[in-house]
Amino acid sequence: MSVGATAPTEAGGSAREAIARHDRKAADRAVAARVDGKLVDLSAPVANGTRVEPVLPDSADGLEVLRHSTAHLMAQAVQELFPGTQVTIGPVIADGFYYDFVRAEAFTPEDLTKIEKKMKEIVSRNLKVTRHEMPKQDAIELFRTMGESYKVEILEGIPEDVVSVYSQGDWKDLCRGPHVPATSKLGVFKLTSVAGAYWRGDSKNAMLQRIYGTAWANREDLDGYLKRIEEAKQRDHRRLGPLLDLFSIHPIAPGSPFFHPNGALVYNLLVRYIRGLYGRYGYTEVITPLIYKTELWKTSGHYEAFHDDMFLMTQDEEEYGVKPMNCPGHCYLFATRKHSYRDLPIRYADFSRLHRFEPSGTLQGLTRVRSMTQDDAHIYCTPDQLDGELGSFIAMVREVYGAFGFEKIEVTLQTRPEKFLGRVELWDAAEAALARSLEAAGYAVKVLPGEGAFYGPKIGFDFRDVLERSWTLATVQIDCAMPERFGLEYTTREDQPATPVMIHRAVLGSIERFIAILLEHTAGAFPLWLAPVQAKVLTLTERQEAFGGEVVATLRARGLRAELDARNEKLGYKIRQAQLEKIPYMLVVGDREAAEGKVAARLRSGEQLPPMTVDELIARVAAEAKEPSC
Ligand SMILES: [Zn+2]
Ligand SMILES: [Zn+2]
Repeated sequence: MSVGATAPTEAGGSAREAIARHDRKAADRAVAARVDGKLVDLSAPVANGTRVEPVLPDSADGLEVLRHSTAHLMAQAVQELFPGTQVTIGPVIADGFYYDFVRAEAFTPEDLTKIEKKMKEIVSRNLKVTRHEMPKQDAIELFRTMGESYKVEILEGIPEDVVSVYSQGDWKDLCRGPHVPATSKLGVFKLTSVAGAYWRGDSKNAMLQRIYGTAWANREDLDGYLKRIEEAKQRDHRRLGPLLDLFSIHPIAPGSPFFHPNGALVYNLLVRYIRGLYGRYGYTEVITPLIYKTELWKTSGHYEAFHDDMFLMTQDEEEYGVKPMNCPGHCYLFATRKHSYRDLPIRYADFSRLHRFEPSGTLQGLTRVRSMTQDDAHIYCTPDQLDGELGSFIAMVREVYGAFGFEKIEVTLQTRPEKFLGRVELWDAAEAALARSLEAAGYAVKVLPGEGAFYGPKIGFDFRDVLERSWTLATVQIDCAMPERFGLEYTTREDQPATPVMIHRAVLGSIERFIAILLEHTAGAFPLWLAPVQAKVLTLTERQEAFGGEVVATLRARGLRAELDARNEKLGYKIRQAQLEKIPYMLVVGDREAAEGKVAARLRSGEQLPPMTVDELIARVAAEAKEPSC
């Protein structure tokens, strides 16, 4: 709801008074106001005839003010409980806030509970939150006497001469605002975690303690959010990966996953699936070197733009770099022979391993790694062929997303950034071609101005998972720089030299990251064709071991991945374990099944199928177990 109101005619009234004149209830509910489009405190004075709107707690602006004010509330609670603790910064983030503190002892989970309690108490004190403006120099003195050296450092870096300080009770903080008018407006919050963070994000600086929290307009929204993060924890691929014995990461190779047999199987099945599509979509696969002389990266422009993210080494006084991407190698390969317009398009696909020196603090499971493989390809074509190539790529994206049941897709078009390589005309033409292709495919497009890569504009196909989180998987970029930098050429129909158009594209993106996303989306219950173990035979007693072995052998002979659990354990225990392993088909065999040559199948959903012969079972699962492109 958004209510418009006009300011009172008498001068000197506050935003709150202006709103109240128009809508008393909105004035009571509001947490801040928007005056001439600017977000301000409800106490802010407004000039005659100004448009004033209430900011209600459940709006996007309102949540921002609530979360921001709750960060201050937390800081006050922390300083009341732990005197001597210094405050630094406390911004709002997606769904919540954090505040970074300086304190010798580490905050414990018990401390978080204490802080929450103290916060509730300050809420019930109903302290007025007031703004004071003062010369910067006075503020520096104020925070110096308070022992807040970080605030002093922040103030010294502020260009303005006048700054604002907010107080609630006798507690003060430097802030631009706006805030809720009183602490009683707060209360629906939860502190979620504590972590280390460097001052100003620089590892050379002191390590601070960051407390994260979340705040909402009402209890229902808070509960919904807490449920979502609990579900996300359960689905976290860093938890499921080791649990399903798919992969692990060790200090000996930071950011470089070890794929265990189960994980390597899933990995290779994904590559096989994409490889299968390549035949139909006209790609040819190439194998290119992992290590190049840095001359290659200097030509491509990566040495300058990407230097810090590369693994570099010197051998025989020559500098080499491990490739962070395939494109420069493909351009070099393209240039090793002459091309006519008749050869184009050329579509080089490459599943090569890539290495990027991501900072250790940013590494995260399979989603942020130093070693990865992409379903990468580069297309070289004539300008006339560009639209057809983009159309064909979009068709492939749709086919793959369809195969995985990814239905909620949002498309973004990312255009020329401030720093870019190549000519502006090429950029304009490339952006127009990408927009045309999306229109032809019937997508509603969100344009992200200036978000393109430094060498060309880009389309991202974002998939929304079951937890409503958005992930960019497929991307396509038109390169406005590399073909010219490498002097790539083909001969036109008129026998003239021309520069080919170069397209970078991937459908799954990095295979590592795709596995992480699929794991979290499915909670580890991979579709049958990807499940490392598709069926597990569970015997009741050792009397069925021989028959169980036969069932497994028959399934394997028919191309299914089956295992036998003939351990001397209770059936309930075996089922529970298979359930944890997300086994799609649990085949129970007791004396009766063994005598009749049947199995009693149980699905991971809990559904029980009537006893059937192995042949009947295979007939049932054959289609489901098939790779989607076959
Ligand atoms: Zn503030
Ligand atoms: Zn590329």
